[in-house]
This record gives sequence, structure tokens and C-alpha cells, in this order.
Amino acid sequence: MTNRQPFDVDAYIHRIQNQPCFICEMVAGRTDGNYIIYQDNLFIAFLNKYPPLYGYALVAPVEHREQVTGDFSVAEYLALQCGVYQVAEAVRRTVETERVYILSLGSQQGNRHVHWHIAPLPYGVPFQQQQLAALGIENGFLDIPEVERTELTKRIRQNMDLNSD
Ligand SMILES: [Zn+2]
Repeated sequence: MTNRQPFDVDAYIHRIQNQPCFICEMVAGRTDGNYIIYQDNLFIAFLNKYPPLYGYALVAPVEHREQVTGDFSVAEYLALQCGVYQVAEAVRRTVETERVYILSLGSQQGNRHVHWHIAPLPYGVPFQQQQLAALGIENGFLDIPEVERTELTKRIRQNMDLNSD
């Protein structure tokens, strides 16, 4: 079982509220310790830097948009959801999961660039510790070494079926 690393909530909040959009930064090639699974003209997929679950990925549009539906036409939204589907399926093929959670959160006070969480719940988690309880990092996030993050990124990328649409 992977150990947990303490999460400094205050430092994190300060960072996201005072630094340029980290997703736009990533798109521009400034990855800042993020592991990019895939990027094309439409979307970028990357590992959650502070994962509460193993194999947790995020998908965001390459363009800076904020409102989960309001900043997209139906066609644009559906095109992005193809990316979310591809990454979720790749995660499912990469790690053992009982159920994949997909959700969009974010805040106008930090992390404004809209993104979708793809969070694979492992088998055997008691009911009370599933769903939102499984996504918190108040008690720390998984301490996954860099080499393992690199390998995980590669495996998810390899498991993406890019000809499915
Ligand atoms: Zn952005």
C-alpha cells in the first residue's frame, strides 16, 4: 500500500490564488512537476499531482475556459467528453477499479480553468469511504515516487484508444 504524504492546504490555496493558471502553464510547456498523459489541439490529460486514489487523472480543454457547460457549445462539450471517455477507459485498463468517478469542480477563486476529475475507486473500499469520502486529501495524498508517476503516465497513455472516435 502506498504511503500518504501530508497535504499543506494553506500553501496550496495560496499558490492557486496567486500564480498563473497552472493548466495554461502546462499547455505552454511549463509542467511544474505535473505528468502529462496526452495533449492534442483540444484537450490535455495529466495525473493528479495530489492523488487521493491511485491512477487519478484530470482532463481539461487546451483553451482557457471556465464554465463547465456555459463556455462551450454542445458540439465543443461533446468533443471534450470524448477525451474524458478515452482517458477514463485508459485509466480503467491501467489500474484495478471497481468504479470510475468523473466530476468537474474548480472555483472562481482558484483553479478556474475547467477540468474533469477521473478518479478510479479501487476494489474493496467500505461504502462509507467511497464517493466524496474517497476524494479528500485532508489526511494526505498518495506518496507516489517520480519513477512510478512516469511509468503510470506512460501506461495510461499506451492504454488510450485514440482511434475510437
Ligand atoms: Zn487556464
